[in-house]
Amino acid sequence: MPNKISTQDVRRANRALVLRHLRLNHPTSRIDLGAMTGLSPATVTSVVGELLAEGTIAETGFRSSAGGRPRTLLEPRPESAYVLGCDISEHELTTALFDFTLQQLDSRSYTFPERQLDLATATTVIANQVRELIGTLSETGNRVLGLGIGVPGMVEEPAVPEGDSLIHAELIGWRDVSLSGLSAELGLPVFVDNGAKTTTLAEAWCGEARGVEHAILVLIGDGVGAGVITNGRLYRGATSSAGEWGHTKIDLSGRPCRCGSRGCVETVLGASGVLHAWPGQAEVWKGREPEGVASLLAAFDAGDEAAVTVVTELIDHLGLALSGLVNLYNPQKIILGGWLGQMIALRFLGDVREATLRHSLPQPGRQAVVERSLLGSRGPALGAAILPIERYIEFGLSHPLTSS
Ligand SMILES: [Zn+2]
Repeated sequence: MPNKISTQDVRRANRALVLRHLRLNHPTSRIDLGAMTGLSPATVTSVVGELLAEGTIAETGFRSSAGGRPRTLLEPRPESAYVLGCDISEHELTTALFDFTLQQLDSRSYTFPERQLDLATATTVIANQVRELIGTLSETGNRVLGLGIGVPGMVEEPAVPEGDSLIHAELIGWRDVSLSGLSAELGLPVFVDNGAKTTTLAEAWCGEARGVEHAILVLIGDGVGAGVITNGRLYRGATSSAGEWGHTKIDLSGRPCRCGSRGCVETVLGASGVLHAWPGQAEVWKGREPEGVASLLAAFDAGDEAAVTVVTELIDHLGLALSGLVNLYNPQKIILGGWLGQMIALRFLGDVREATLRHSLPQPGRQAVVERSLLGSRGPALGAAILPIERYIEFGLSHPLTSS
């Protein structure tokens, strides 16, 4: 027998619908909200009344309407709640504080060498950064919705609802670890997800994928990953590992990969793979890959024959790997992000578009526009901060928290 839907469920769904529209389109009026959501005027009035009473939104002025009474405008209140987003990347751990409209207020960063960050250090650093950032809020009694964390690896959902999410992040030496202890330590809800997925959320909410129904964010650094948006929603797959594009194979006899296989996309497009293709250079730049790639591009500009070959083949392989995504998902937009993805897109976007089109099926190839991420390094922490906001929009203040 299907589960009975309660009045409370309907109210919660209506509230989420109104909040989702208000997030994307504001300022707006009650009448426009009704037209956009399909909810009745009475329901819109009721939900808006509830959101005004809890301080989540505010009336911020009037808009004249043709022949009718001026319409009261509604907007989310930035100071109605705060969220924290933490990004653990290959070399850095950054936590940022945002208001309810996702304006970044402050951030703290911790750099670690050689992609090695032990769990105890990470936990201590994150807890200290969060306490410091909450301490920068000028008033006390603020509503803090929670902390989102993006990690450079897979996050396995708990087998039972009250269980811990397990993190597998080979890139920084984490195998089957959990960050759930942070929640009790900080007294905040903590949400953990794969960094490519959180950064994709940032693109969907605030970046190049905003309002795009079918988009893919490709992140290229030392690691390589992707986040897929289909029908306006992040695609997760059966156990949330979808988007591990970096470990699809493009060379059966290719170099070994950190995942245990060989010839993965990451071994060709990841920074270490790129530098490995540059004769005699891989060891020189080990642990300093961004400098190594900058040096490669300088050699390319100087017309160095080996560097020209490496860069030309990199662009061709990137087009080849992207064509797999084009043919599988038929996206409207592919966004290049990650530090290396940004470097390539800044210099060679036209060449990447051409190579992608050349390797794709013609029809989906022509539809897919390849762009550069404009969020840049702000994306990952921003995307992590969206995790608690998403939860709040869907479920409301089931766990109200205030800073002291
Ligand atoms: Zn691999």
